[in-house]
Amino acid sequence: MLKKVCISIIFLLVCLSFAVTYSQAATYHVLSAWCVDSGKHLDWKGSSQYLSYFNTGVNTWNNYKSGVIRADGAFTVNDVTISDVSDLDGNTVALTSITAPFGNGHGTGTIQFATSKMNKLSSLKKTIVCTHEIGHALGLSENNDNGTNVIMYNDITYNTSNNVLHSQDKLNYDYMYNNKY
Ligand SMILES: [Zn+2]
Repeated sequence: MLKKVCISIIFLLVCLSFAVTYSQAATYHVLSAWCVDSGKHLDWKGSSQYLSYFNTGVNTWNNYKSGVIRADGAFTVNDVTISDVSDLDGNTVALTSITAPFGNGHGTGTIQFATSKMNKLSSLKKTIVCTHEIGHALGLSENNDNGTNVIMYNDITYNTSNNVLHSQDKLNYDYMYNNKY
């Protein structure tokens, strides 16, 4: 039984020689690196057995700001690649890592799903995991300060978001969209 399941990029951050650190902006829960390009698009590719959940996650964000997240095509440059792995360290269910040239700004990313843990989750929780990880690719950080019904609340066991964007998710996305991409 998984007692506590984290969906987090924290584990990777400590391993990176180039530091991807959290923003110092106190009022926003955002990262200093993101996968959205300067054209304000997040173009993804890859494969996963959770693709239907991932697409639902894409729609959750795109229903708020349309056309930002797109499947890679012949004329797009890849920003993030999704894949499945058998397991990830510790309690990590899914992992978003972003490689930015100087540790901040736009970078390319990967989203990995640990099948051993994902397969134990309900369909709703699988969807929330996908939406949450996409949030990291958008440059949002963990947000455990505003209740468990925030998409970016990082413990999937207790995440009560129902895959609905919280005002805090929107606030932080707005900040990134209007100031960073
Ligand atoms: Zn997370």
